[in-house]
Order: sequence, then C-alpha cells, then structure tokens
Amino acid sequence: MNKVTIKKCSEYNKNLIKQKIYDIFNSHNFTKKLKKINRVLLKPNLLGSYEPDKAVTSHPTFIVALAEILHDYNIKTVLFDNPGGSSKFKNVIIQTGIKELAEKYNIEILNPSDMGVYKFNTDPQLVISKVFIDSDAIINLSKMKTHSYTLFTGAIKNMYGIVPGAAKANYHKLAPHPSKFAEIVVDIYSHVHKNIIFNFMDGILGMDGDGPSNGNAKKFEIILGSESAIALDYIATKTMGYNPNKVPVTTIAAERFNFDLQNIDVESDFDLDYVLEDVNIRTSKNLNLLLKILSAPFKDFVKYFFWTKPAFDSTRCTQCRKCIRFCPVSALSLPSASKAPVVDADKCIRCLCCVETCPENAVEMQKSFLAKLLM
Ligand code: SF4
Ligand code: SF4
Repeated sequence: MNKVTIKKCSEYNKNLIKQKIYDIFNSHNFTKKLKKINRVLLKPNLLGSYEPDKAVTSHPTFIVALAEILHDYNIKTVLFDNPGGSSKFKNVIIQTGIKELAEKYNIEILNPSDMGVYKFNTDPQLVISKVFIDSDAIINLSKMKTHSYTLFTGAIKNMYGIVPGAAKANYHKLAPHPSKFAEIVVDIYSHVHKNIIFNFMDGILGMDGDGPSNGNAKKFEIILGSESAIALDYIATKTMGYNPNKVPVTTIAAERFNFDLQNIDVESDFDLDYVLEDVNIRTSKNLNLLLKILSAPFKDFVKYFFWTKPAFDSTRCTQCRKCIRFCPVSALSLPSASKAPVVDADKCIRCLCCVETCPENAVEMQKSFLAKLLM
C-alpha cells in the first residue's frame, strides 16, 4: 500500500503509455485486483477549457491508454469531473480533446448537470457529486503541477474536483488561508478515499511556475502510480524539488490517516534520490508564503507594506465576466468605462480563483515593491 512506482515516459504515445501503466500495475500486483472489478469511475483533471499541450488538464491519450487496459480486463470506464470556475463542461471536454477520443474508444462521459449531489452533515457543510460516493472503484488520474495556493496539485488535490463548481469557490470563502484551505481539501478527500483503488500522476508534460493554470508546461517525462494518494503526493513533491514534509495537503492527510511518510517503498527507473532538473517551484513557494503572511492576524499592519492583488490585462480580457461570477466574495466588478474587471482590494481574500478561472490568462497577482523584495 505504501509503495510508489516511477516510470520514465517521454511522449504521449498510446502504446508507450499503456506499457508504462502495465508496468506500474504489475509492480503493485494490481492486475489480480483488476480481475474482480466490472466498472471504474475515472477522475481526471478537467480544470477548464485548455488544449492538452497547455498541461493544465489530463491528456486524452493517457485516458485512452488507461481505458484500453481496463477494457482488456472487461472493465467499463466511466469518466467524470467537475470543471473549475464557471467553465462549461461541454466546452471543457471538447477543448481538452477528451470528447473526440472518448467517443472513438467508447468511454462513457458523465455530465455534471445530470449527477446528483451528496451533502455531508459537517461544519462547514461539504457538498460533493454523489457518483463518487456510489462508485466503489475510482481511479484518480492527476496532473503533476505546481499550485500557488497549496504549493502543489497532485493526487489528493485532484479529488477537490468532486465538489460541484459553484461550491468550490464557497470553500475558499470559508477558509481564506492556504493552510485552512488545505484542511478542507483533505476533508473532501477523506469522504471518498476508501473508494479510490489506484492513483496515477501524469508528469509526461507537467507544469511549473505559477500553477495550476498560469504556469509553464514543462516536460518532466515521468508517470507515477500508487494505491496511496498520500504516498504518491509525498514522492512526487520530493521529485519536483519541494521539501515534501512542508507541503500542507500531504502532511495534513498523513496526520489525519496516521500514515507513516518515512516508510514509503519506491520503485523507480531513476536513482531513489532523483530530483527533476530545473523545475521552477520557487514562484509557488513565494506566493504561498506571501498569502500566508497576509492571512495572519497582524495583516492590517502588514498589508500597508506587503500586498498582492489580482491585476487584469485589458489587452487580453474579453470581458466574459467569468471571474466576476466566480469570485467568492464579490470583490470584482466591470464598470462601463473599463475594459477589464476592477478589484475591491478590501474585499479580496486572495484566493486566486479569478486567476484560475480566466480562460484568457488575463489575470495575475500583482505584488507590492516590498512583497517582491521579500520574495
Ligand atoms: S478578486 Fe480574485 S483573488 Fe480576490 S477574492 Fe475574488 S477571486 Fe479571489
Ligand atoms: S479577466 Fe478573464 S475571466 Fe475576467 S472578464 Fe476578462 S477574460 Fe473574462
């Protein structure tokens, strides 16, 4: 269970990926378990309407390679995710290239608007798509990316997609601090973790810099797999160059599930201490640090000198208003004389939802002179 396998894979070639997936399943003796399963719910990363080469969303060739293997075991693949922001599901599956390949390879895609929700009697109340509760065989297919709010978006964070779009922003409002938000991510994961039978991470083309949607697509040329999302995230962050003991989502989950992070067995095509070269994790670490400082109790004193707020590029903005609709605290507006939204800095909780939501890459977090100096 506490094992992670890392395979080198240099391109999105279906047969090559199939071989690597087989190798990973075999290294976990997982093919025996596959023989007992009839149906798998595949949870990819469908954050928004992005082409596959942007490395924001799951690559369709990876999905098809995995579905073909499952088909070899007489397992039906059903695919589902809730896109982020106000992205429309039907546009997301077209632009990511998933609809075309799913039709060709007979993969059923479930539509979020047809799926019911399950409400947990918790404080705050958690709402997730019911299909994830009803499915006892989920395969979690995450992307290997930086994340400026949670440092890293991997297997555990990928399960945040089981929350319907509008509710996602609400959790940012309820937990306007990176560490508190990490707790909510783990809360959500904890409600479905027993139904996840295997976790893959697609790092053939990953993302560094200002992830999860505004960073740089980067060839990491690896695929990782594990039955444990916690082990997978721990080893993946270490491979990217993070100190894995300081990535909040992983450490909170390990504590919650009494998981021994120092006892993970790694089988790899590389040296056991292998770290990817030249990965920019610094941007995510710096912004994460600044967001933590600004969320601390002394923020009123500090914010005069240190601040960050969204800035809008009017040459890119198409005035689609998606960011305005998705802002959890209604801090954005579009005055008639303006060519892009304007932000009410006193209301803004710096959740980065507008940055993630914008389909035109027209939003970035602007920083004060001293904040830049600190970084
Ligand atoms: S303006 Fe952007 S960063 Fe600020 S609260 Fe709204 S969505 Fe979040
Ligand atoms: S900044 Fe982006 S999301 Fe917001 S209105 Fe402009 S294009 Fe739309």
